[in-house]
Amino acid sequence: MPLVRTRGIILRSLKWGDADRIVTVYSPNFGKIRGVARGARRMKTRFGGVLEPFGLVDLSLFQKTPESLGQISQIDLVASYSSIRENLTVMTAAARMVKMVEAITVDRDPNPGMYTTLVHGLKSLRPEADVALSALLFQIHVLGHTGFRPQFDSCTECGQLAKQHIPQWFSPRLGGVVCHDCGQRGVGRMLSLSKGSVAFIEQARRLSIPNLSRLKAIGSVRIEVETAMEAYFYAVVGKSLPTFEQWVS
Ligand SMILES: [Zn+2]
Repeated sequence: MPLVRTRGIILRSLKWGDADRIVTVYSPNFGKIRGVARGARRMKTRFGGVLEPFGLVDLSLFQKTPESLGQISQIDLVASYSSIRENLTVMTAAARMVKMVEAITVDRDPNPGMYTTLVHGLKSLRPEADVALSALLFQIHVLGHTGFRPQFDSCTECGQLAKQHIPQWFSPRLGGVVCHDCGQRGVGRMLSLSKGSVAFIEQARRLSIPNLSRLKAIGSVRIEVETAMEAYFYAVVGKSLPTFEQWVS
């Protein structure tokens, strides 16, 4: 299937050579795909200004084999979500979202649920909203759409049901809760994760992305969930995400 026509979100747009760009797009039916936009950086180009990250595009990509780098023959902007770029905090949240999807997916592995989550996630970002919370909730959902869904119902070390052993810890390496006994024995780095924090994560998983704005997380729950999800994400993909703190000085 050499010619791919699809809608998708631009995850990344990288300068390539003197005049080209390599564009990475996340699409509902093909997953993550990549292609070269030849001459994209020349003054007059058919790609004029549509290759920016976060944009929703319709794309035609010619690829000899699924493994080869494709050639983008046509790309049309459907929605730019340009308001994302008007506010640094909003832009950081959006950058976190696209980088999460880029880091946790492999090429050509379709996951329509992940795609829908990304579209809704970007749409949910508004300067007046708690966008750091939106990015956190998005992170919980993204993990839920992969094989890296963290385990909260039983201890990841001994398998004891969490109901009998109230979870006390979260292990980024093991990808889930660790019971009090295993925690005492030591299983590497552990983070505290209270019952309230686990309940928050499970509630966030159950609600669909458009309904997540109802959720609020404050105080220690917010800190615990943010710390646990960030550490776990890093353990899974080995890459850090853009941080909100980098803009504060
Ligand atoms: Zn245990």
